[in-house]
Amino acid sequence: MLREKMSRGKQKGGKSIMIEGAGEGTQISCELVRSGRKTVALEVSRDGVVRLRIPYQYPEKMALEFLERKRPWLFQAVEKVNQRQKKRKEAQAACPEITEAEEQAYRRQAKAILTQKADVYAKRMGVTYEKLMVKDQKTRWGSCSAKGNLNFNWRIVLAPEPVTDYVVIHELAHRIHMNHSAAFYQTIEAIMPDYRRQEQWLKENGDSLRYGRQSSAISKS
Ligand SMILES: [Zn+2]
Repeated sequence: MLREKMSRGKQKGGKSIMIEGAGEGTQISCELVRSGRKTVALEVSRDGVVRLRIPYQYPEKMALEFLERKRPWLFQAVEKVNQRQKKRKEAQAACPEITEAEEQAYRRQAKAILTQKADVYAKRMGVTYEKLMVKDQKTRWGSCSAKGNLNFNWRIVLAPEPVTDYVVIHELAHRIHMNHSAAFYQTIEAIMPDYRRQEQWLKENGDSLRYGRQSSAISKS
């Protein structure tokens, strides 16, 4: 069994601490940042940088002990970030970058596709909507305003078609229920019995879709 240990190293700008994991070659570098704060905080940034923020007078020995206690959590958190980054990179590598003009064209196509779907499903669900707009929201796939305006992230049309349909149905269901209650999901289920599968797909692949630079995928009708 490998001995887990900690050692200290110097890094430009400040002190960094190497934390070794149980597995082979697993090592995390943690920046030690002293500031006027009163409490200790450990963070893993979106790009995988680990920082331990401590008060000026905080003894380094205690910082090391803190890291030791947090080690299992830390390795899990870093692994999660690494996986996300890997997926994002794969998505970007698989797709050539698209130009501004191409993106505009995709957006127009996306709007046409989504409008067609919204019209079909609105009729089936017995609802109406006002305007349909296509945006590049990073955090959501769609939204429905109280006035009945639908917004969609244009990239949702790059997903498998049932997933695109689900997002359209989801937003239209908000025309009946402005919440995510059980009744809301029953409305969706009545139209799409396997909607959970599409939700799951979005959970697993949404990031690649959001950050990928797809160029060839829109050819659905
Ligand atoms: Zn919703």
